[in-house]
Amino acid sequence: MSEVVIIGSGAGGLTCGLLLASSGYSVTVIEKNRKPGGMMRSYRRGGFDCPVGIHYLGALDEGQPLRRFFDAFDITRRIPLERMGVSDPIDRYRIGEHTFDLPSGIDRFERALADAFPSEESARAGIMADLRCAWAHMENLGFLFDTDRDLPPLKSHSVAEEFASLRCSSNLAHTLATSTAWFGVPWKSCPVSFLYMTLASYLSSSWRLTAGGAHLADVLSERLQELGGKLVCGDPVVSIGVDGGAVTGVRCESGRELRAPVVVSTVHPQRMLDWLPGGAVKPSYSNRIRRLENTGSAVCLQALVPAGTHAGLPYNIMHWPAPFDERGIRFLQLHPEPARDSSLLTVLKYAWWSDWERFGARGPQYTEAKDRMAEELVAEAEAVLGALPGLRILDLYTPVSISDWVGSPQGSAYGVMRSVGQRFQAALLNRTPVKGLFCAGQSVLAPGILGTALGAAQTAMFVAGSEPVARILGIP
Ligand SMILES: Cc1cc2nc3c(=O)[nH]c(=O)nc-3n(C[C@H](O)[C@H](O)[C@H](O)COP(=O)(O)OP(=O)(O)OC[C@H]3O[C@@H](n4cnc5c(N)ncnc54)[C@H](O)[C@@H]3O)c2cc1C
Repeated sequence: MSEVVIIGSGAGGLTCGLLLASSGYSVTVIEKNRKPGGMMRSYRRGGFDCPVGIHYLGALDEGQPLRRFFDAFDITRRIPLERMGVSDPIDRYRIGEHTFDLPSGIDRFERALADAFPSEESARAGIMADLRCAWAHMENLGFLFDTDRDLPPLKSHSVAEEFASLRCSSNLAHTLATSTAWFGVPWKSCPVSFLYMTLASYLSSSWRLTAGGAHLADVLSERLQELGGKLVCGDPVVSIGVDGGAVTGVRCESGRELRAPVVVSTVHPQRMLDWLPGGAVKPSYSNRIRRLENTGSAVCLQALVPAGTHAGLPYNIMHWPAPFDERGIRFLQLHPEPARDSSLLTVLKYAWWSDWERFGARGPQYTEAKDRMAEELVAEAEAVLGALPGLRILDLYTPVSISDWVGSPQGSAYGVMRSVGQRFQAALLNRTPVKGLFCAGQSVLAPGILGTALGAAQTAMFVAGSEPVARILGIP
């Protein structure tokens, strides 16, 4: 059985590991943290499960793209889910004074757009045609097997160009772009295919994890081990061996050496470069990777509010305070915690490494800066939800926390920016010039749990060939 070592046990590492273990490879996943899951893993504060990198998921209904992965790994019944958008919206967008409720379903979205923007018929027709086209291409995962990785009719232009050519009003543009505002790519450089694929995946069906991200991480890890894979936690990889242009394995901080003809790194590609011996790749390759622009980071408040004053909300709130600033979007979730008579408030917004790096040592100044940011986010939540008497802050995480937790450069939340401008530099990141060394993870194709899973499937195909991966995912 051929050996594969996978560096990192986030969504990318576990998905790739499960696909390769199911294809007959002997897989070992090495994780630096004590527990698996990377950003998908939630953490506990005050007995509450606080989300990090999964607030909701799209495309998990029967036959839909993410569900195909869960079914292929035979874990669907082990992941309790709550469907969103049944009698409420999935998301409530608050764009200045304008409110838009994102419903579940592409047809319902079309009607909601018509109600909200009755005079923009021609723009709506263009949007719906492209949205349906995007869903048709991704629905059965067939596009993964196309040699041309983009959606043919939706190629290279940016979201800004799309809005201009459709003559969208500002409110319609913001309504459409809210779904991708979270992936950190500015409109002027966000590929339009990215916008429609993201929106389509959430419209197709949206879900919350009832048992939290740590549970999902544990189920994926258990399944990997049931399939014969090994998971080693708490031992960071410190170097990747290369001999004669081919990978030979990895060495960990403890001195553990794992030899393998195939290594898949799911950590950010810029970090991977640091583990390669000098001369293993040409300067042209390392320069290309080191110059890639990354997405920004985030700060996130977790707090409790008494359920008596604020019961949980079955939808998320995306708030753009005026004046419009596409990176100024806030995400709010008020998650019901009935057993504890409380609601868990999560408030998330963009943040920049340059504002936090000086606190890297986590001294008293860092704690003070966190306290100030927590107060700011509480005030922002009150501006949206009204006064929050009895609120109790549980935690706030910052770009420093994200960087420390998963090793993402500058705490980048979504890895390499998949922009029109970086189209060629960021192409085919799955492969490296070193024989047997591959990349997976959110930077190789698209971020989000679905985007990361799709990128991991591409990498698994480079390792094992398309036939076994297509068979496992049930693609004809
Ligand atoms: C704030 C936030 C909110 C988000 N919300 C959502 C959401 O609601 N829905 C959604 O679909 N997506 C969401 N995402 C995106 C999603 O979480 C990510 O795209 C996805 O989890 C990335 O998985 P990954 O495997 O690429 O990376 P990671 O999860 O970062 O995994 C990389 C792993 O490598 C490990 N590692 C690092 N260095 C080493 C080393 N030296 N040796 C061994 N292991 C190492 C890390 O510890 C980590 O476990 C969110 C992300 C953020 C930051």
